[in-house]
Amino acid sequence: MAKSASKLSLNVSPSVSAVSAADERWMEEALRCAQRALEAGEVPVGAVVVCDGQVVGRGWNRNLTDRDPTAHAEIVALREAGRNLGNHRLGSCELFATIEPCAMCAGAAVHARLRRLVYGADDLKAGAVYSVLQVLNHPKLNHRMEVQAGVLAGRAAEMLQDFFRNRR
Ligand code: ZN
Repeated sequence: MAKSASKLSLNVSPSVSAVSAADERWMEEALRCAQRALEAGEVPVGAVVVCDGQVVGRGWNRNLTDRDPTAHAEIVALREAGRNLGNHRLGSCELFATIEPCAMCAGAAVHARLRRLVYGADDLKAGAVYSVLQVLNHPKLNHRMEVQAGVLAGRAAEMLQDFFRNRR
């Protein structure tokens, strides 16, 4: 998600019909990562990469900590997954993110050739899956990825809204 999200606009997607217990379990892991970001004073977004039923990458926002504009939770998790699997292609992996990925992170998901993306709350200000841009499954891009939105969206949104409310 964007750094400039002080007026973050979040939406709990209504398309939560087919959420599986496994999706919720991994999203719980991503929410724990978001909590780590919160404890570090970062915007509370978390992400995990899952491959063959195992977490192979974890990330939470580290922009301030690392003085790195690219250190979004999803990027951090994808980098760790690449290192752990010894491959920059993550074609059998799924990415779980607490909020709809931004253009940078959605682009990274395409470069990684991820099989599936699962996210929590929609980000109406910067989301690049549906909300603002449609980077994933763009008709001019080759790679196709399954997307599940709205998993534990209320909790992800609440954490972000509390964060920005307390910062004002
Ligand atoms: Zn991002």
